[in-house]
Amino acid sequence: MELFQLTRARDVRDAIEAGAASRTAQQGAEVRFLAGGTTLLDLMKLNVERPARVVDISRLPLNSVEASADGGVKIGATVRNADLAHHPLIRDAYPVLSQALLAGASAQLRNMATTGGNLLQRTRCVYFRDTAMACNKREPGSGCAAIGGFNRTLAILGVSDACIASNPSDMNVALTALEATIHIAGTRGERQVAIDEFFLLPGTTPQRETVVEPGDLITHVTLPPPASGSRSVYLKLRDRASYEFALASAAVIVTVADGRISHVRVALGGVGTKPWRSREAEAALVSQAPDAAVFARAAAAALADARPQSQNGFKVELAQRCLVHALKLASAAA
Ligand SMILES: Cc1cc2nc3c(=O)[nH]c(=O)nc-3n(C[C@H](O)[C@H](O)[C@H](O)COP(=O)(O)OP(=O)(O)OC[C@H]3O[C@@H](n4cnc5c(N)ncnc54)[C@H](O)[C@@H]3O)c2cc1C
Ligand code: SF4
Repeated sequence: MELFQLTRARDVRDAIEAGAASRTAQQGAEVRFLAGGTTLLDLMKLNVERPARVVDISRLPLNSVEASADGGVKIGATVRNADLAHHPLIRDAYPVLSQALLAGASAQLRNMATTGGNLLQRTRCVYFRDTAMACNKREPGSGCAAIGGFNRTLAILGVSDACIASNPSDMNVALTALEATIHIAGTRGERQVAIDEFFLLPGTTPQRETVVEPGDLITHVTLPPPASGSRSVYLKLRDRASYEFALASAAVIVTVADGRISHVRVALGGVGTKPWRSREAEAALVSQAPDAAVFARAAAAALADARPQSQNGFKVELAQRCLVHALKLASAAA
């Protein structure tokens, strides 16, 4: 395995060209970018990822958080999760993002993990990480050991007959509620992708998780200005209070004006094969008074299409309760 280290702004082009040599940017890529390494190195040790070349991008000058002219914020791809969570611009204007980041992993991991790496972290499905087991995501066409196997922690929304793996990130749920835009530099120039279009449903090709192509380097993420008068909350439910992935989580952004919900964004984590924006819940909430019955209707709408497996049926009610409580917290503060 060859390791390349890049440090200067002009090295971005070298990173892209190195990555473009890969047949795929998804599972089985011959060239991998290394940021914090907290996903990649684990998977290399497990023999799940076997890149021939690793390009260290962690020292590229993509590590700033800046206010943008439109009142939003620009977050560099190599900004560490801890630095982002504690940045005054994020803490003050986007508390849902700060809370989501701080709910993830451990202090040591957050010191290493980056914005770009967190976006592209892989599922924690145990069969994906075990090369002795059938897994369509790791080995297309080999089957899915989780369907009918240990699936307690896996997804109930957006699942297919090929894969039920959940997206494990907390940060991605907050970024989805915040309607983030992902900025990508690739062999054909730069492009921007709305976060809701960045992640792909598994369908028949679960090995393909995002729109990222060989050579694509995430350079930064932008957030629009915070909705005027809004309050936001990230609530994460898990088996233990820290150092654990979500069984269900909710990121909500709510504005209450004249006793009615005038603006709301809802995203769920732990239950979807991708960070799950619930437009159904939003539609049930907007223009309504923020009360328990309305929250319950919104939560029912959010989970209406759930397809639980043998062990994770409990997630339907857990996610509903999580969303109801997050909405209560966000609107009580308003
Ligand atoms: C024990 C443990 C517990 C955890 N708990 C949680 C948790 O509770 N919640 C949670 O959200 N996360 C959790 N995580 C996951 C952690 O947040 C991710 O591993 C981390 O965010 C990945 O970031 P990284 O910079 O280390 O990525 P890396 O491992 O460096 O990279 C991950 C992937 O992204 C690619 N990549 C990285 N940067 C770029 C870029 N700029 N452009 C293109 N491709 C890029 C890499 O090639 C690689 O494929 C946990 C991890 C561990 C090990
Ligand atoms: S759920 Fe997806 S990741 Fe897990 S074994 Fe099945 S195909 Fe693999």
